Amino acid sequence: MSEKKVAIITGASSGIGEAAAKSLAATSCIVVLAARREERLKELVKEIEMSGGEALYCVTDVTKNSEVETLIKLAVDTYGKVDILINSAGIMPHSPLKDQRIQDWDNMIDINIKGTLYGIGAVLPYMNEQKSGHIINISSVAGHYAHAGGAVYSATKWAVRAISESLREEVAQDDTNIRVSIVSPGAINTELLSSITDPEIRENNAKFYENFGISVERVASAIQQIVDVPADTAWNEVIIRPTKQVR
Ligand code: NDP
Repeated sequence: MSEKKVAIITGASSGIGEAAAKSLAATSCIVVLAARREERLKELVKEIEMSGGEALYCVTDVTKNSEVETLIKLAVDTYGKVDILINSAGIMPHSPLKDQRIQDWDNMIDINIKGTLYGIGAVLPYMNEQKSGHIINISSVAGHYAHAGGAVYSATKWAVRAISESLREEVAQDDTNIRVSIVSPGAINTELLSSITDPEIRENNAKFYENFGISVERVASAIQQIVDVPADTAWNEVIIRPTKQVR
């Protein structure tokens, strides 16, 4: 079995997931990359391998529990263990509630909440058996503050924090050595705004990100530090945002 840690990352085809994958693959981990866009994942595996790292991809839609289970099983069957799961897959189609963008609401609930839950559910049996593991869930500053136009997104990110804290208590009570961390970023320059379906709202958000957004490598570096902490210690929550961002 590899000395390196095995890290499964959802949302690895872009943004925070991709940057975390590159960072972890360059240091201490074999990475197993999950998302829907296969070409992106293939390219990333190539890039990581060219830099001397080890990576595998599995096309996965996190809204489908069976696909998430297949992803986790593939990692364990291939490498014999799973040390880290990063639930980064997410979307942020902001809109005021009065617009009744029901499909956006459903998608956010399915991807941001249920996708995270499916990841946790699928990986726990293996981590419990190993008596070790680290689950890192990506929430948001919006999981701490609600604002007009962001009701459903904030609700999903609040849910990620609630799920993470309950999970942390459960695995601590069960004496499993499993660590749980929440990463709550502020405005980070990624492809996230492309999930906003209302063009005007997308443009307004783009202006905010142009003024305030910081590089995705900042979040990858925080995740790297969270992973590198000795196993008897867990960074349970990190808020990381641009210095100039008020909320
Ligand atoms: P990106 O849009 O760059 O990345 C989102 C990732 O999620 C993509 O890899 C996408 O891959 C994946 N994804 C979306 N839907 C699914 C699905 N159904 N199944 C599997 N994968 C899916 O955005 P970020 O990197 O910024 O977002 C990552 C996380 O960070 C999200 O949870 C987001 O809410 C959170 N976040 C981001 C902030 C920011 O400012 N950027 C701030 C706070 C939190 P694909 O389309 O190939 O499936």
